[in-house]
Amino acid sequence: MLVVMQQGATEEQIEHVIDRLVDLGFDVHRSTGVIHTVLGGVGGKYDFDLAVFQVMDGVKEAHRIVSPYKLASRAFRPGGTIVRVGSLAIGGDAVVVMAGPCSLENRDQIEQCAEVAARTGARVIRGGAFKPSSSPYEFQGLGAEGLQMLRAAADRHGLLVVSEVMDQTQIPLLAEYVDIVQVGARNMQNLNLLRELGKQSKPVLLKRGIAASIEELLLSAEYILAGGNYNVILCERGIRTFETQTRYTLDLSAIPVVKKLSHLPIIADPSHGTGRRDIVAPMARAALAAGADGLMIEVHPDPDRALSDGAQSMRPEQFEELMHQLQAVALAVGRASWPVPL
Ligand code: PEP
Ligand code: MN
Repeated sequence: MLVVMQQGATEEQIEHVIDRLVDLGFDVHRSTGVIHTVLGGVGGKYDFDLAVFQVMDGVKEAHRIVSPYKLASRAFRPGGTIVRVGSLAIGGDAVVVMAGPCSLENRDQIEQCAEVAARTGARVIRGGAFKPSSSPYEFQGLGAEGLQMLRAAADRHGLLVVSEVMDQTQIPLLAEYVDIVQVGARNMQNLNLLRELGKQSKPVLLKRGIAASIEELLLSAEYILAGGNYNVILCERGIRTFETQTRYTLDLSAIPVVKKLSHLPIIADPSHGTGRRDIVAPMARAALAAGADGLMIEVHPDPDRALSDGAQSMRPEQFEELMHQLQAVALAVGRASWPVPL
């Protein structure tokens, strides 16, 4: 903790700041410069409100040195975390691809996605049974029936399953069918949901909120970790900016930043991040090059007729071509990928 006092701050104001720092357990070191007095707080709590210091009389600026999250910080596990799901390791040497439709629609659609995913080296099939649609009039998902179809297709093709949970009452049902529970962007700060997911053992894929800072994403992960579930995978899926050419702005710089700040694996979702099928491939390649541990990509056998997110869903043959390209990118950045299909 570092507090810089204003020029001309009174002794009383300085003492007041010191008293508050001491109350919080800080060991305070005072440096008196020609213009400013600087107070350095060592040790102490990390869960204080920095703004309280920033507005104190006589304070010019105050900075937090220790991050507000603890379990999610890189310092907690400097070697990084590998999330193991069955025989799959996320956050290890190999990059992992999760692919499938936005929404689960019918058996045939899911089967075609599972087939192309398994054949091209993706290890996880995705698909929403509970859809967080922006409008209540849009498709809301098939619910439990969709999950059954997804599980059956995944088992036929030796794939793992990821699907979204929208609230805590759905956790038992999801847990029956999925290997990884997804928390969508709209729910990144549904703190009751995060707390409940911390108490159960399925790995959680936590997507970044559309207006969430990296720090807020890591604080949301902290809720799950604090409950005792350390199997959290982060996902950069684009944030809202002023740009209108893409649905969101895929914040690729978040990937190396998260790698520095946290030990948790992070994947990227260039489908939601761009909203456009024609630029999913370059952004997927770029995300791997930026250090992502994997990708989540929407695929649909007939995207023009998809019940949701058709514009950003790749056709199976496009996805297949991308999977070949991704192998080369993985190799170029020193990561393993998947066996080259014959
Ligand atoms: C999804 O993965 O289908 C989804 C709704 O994503 P997001 O929460 O990132 O919008
Ligand atoms: Mn979608």
